[in-house]
Amino acid sequence: SVVERIAAPHSGPVPFSVEFFPPRSEAEEARLWHAVRVFERMNPAFVSLTYGAGGSTRDRTVRIAGELATSTTLTTVAHLTAVNHSVDELRGLVGAYADKGITNLLALRGDPPGDPMGEWIAHPEGVRYATELVELIGSLGDFHTGVASFPEGHHRAPNLAADTGNLVRKLRAGAEYSVTQMFFDVEDFLRLRDRVVAADPEQGAKPLIPGIMPITSLQSVRRMVELSGSVLPAATADRLAAAAGDGPEEDRAAVRAVGIDLCTEMAERLIAEGVPCLHFCSLNFARATSEVLERLGVDTRGALAPA
Ligand code: FAD
Repeated sequence: SVVERIAAPHSGPVPFSVEFFPPRSEAEEARLWHAVRVFERMNPAFVSLTYGAGGSTRDRTVRIAGELATSTTLTTVAHLTAVNHSVDELRGLVGAYADKGITNLLALRGDPPGDPMGEWIAHPEGVRYATELVELIGSLGDFHTGVASFPEGHHRAPNLAADTGNLVRKLRAGAEYSVTQMFFDVEDFLRLRDRVVAADPEQGAKPLIPGIMPITSLQSVRRMVELSGSVLPAATADRLAAAAGDGPEEDRAAVRAVGIDLCTEMAERLIAEGVPCLHFCSLNFARATSEVLERLGVDTRGALAPA
């Protein structure tokens, strides 16, 4: 399980994990497998595959997760969302993952397709909140379930206390750990950790795994941050903007270098704060994350050597 894997021996100062998304084309699929093989050599605690809800995406997601679990040595976590699914379909999906040997699931409610900020409409025979999905998975067999957490608070939670209450509920429902939404301000993460421990020390003792990412493009991180309703800290935005320059095109090489510095600095601070694992949103690229890991002292086994 994820909790066992993050307690297992690892190279470097802290275990790490990598998030992938289901590829949408053959070229993307080739890129994914390249990244998977690079990370595999570095012994991540686990890898995870996000869930895309649409029909063909769904089938591809299940296929790729199965291939990760069966044709690599990696502990694979499959994300699962409740959007547009009846309970019967959710049971079927959990069963499909189990058939491929996947028992680690990340239980999510998901966002409305199209507009993540739009109105959330429950499937008439589905579940309404991630807590119910955690309970459903727990009723289906011997699974190890994680949930999402939000250093800046979830965009639909009325306030941070309600958001913390929801995380505690998901953990009490049986989730063994949580992975945070990507963030860029370590203080937000530390405050979340303090709130969970204060709200329920027992649940607060479960691993709270920070989600981080080396920024390689100012334009795309701005879009990502906007979509998730979070903010870039001013100091981070300033450093990136200075690197981007004021030409018509951002200076990608300079932004990337600063992005890797920023991510390494965040990771070092999080390690000093005793986090159980660092979860990297790789966007299916291996190199930037590998550079951060190398700088942290993880044995990257020549992964950065030219191919
Ligand atoms: P929930 O925990 O159900 O919370 C949703 C909202 O409902 C919150 O505002 C909460 O406070 C509120 N709430 C919960 N219970 C109650 C209650 N009983 N009464 C009133 N309010 C309540 N999306 C994808 O589509 N695919 C993915 O693979 C994916 N992976 C993700 C991975 C991570 C690590 C993270 C952080 C997010 C991921 N997401 C993914 C996005 C996620 O689906 C959205 O952020 C979604 O809006 C929230 O999901 P949740 O599981 O936290 O929802």
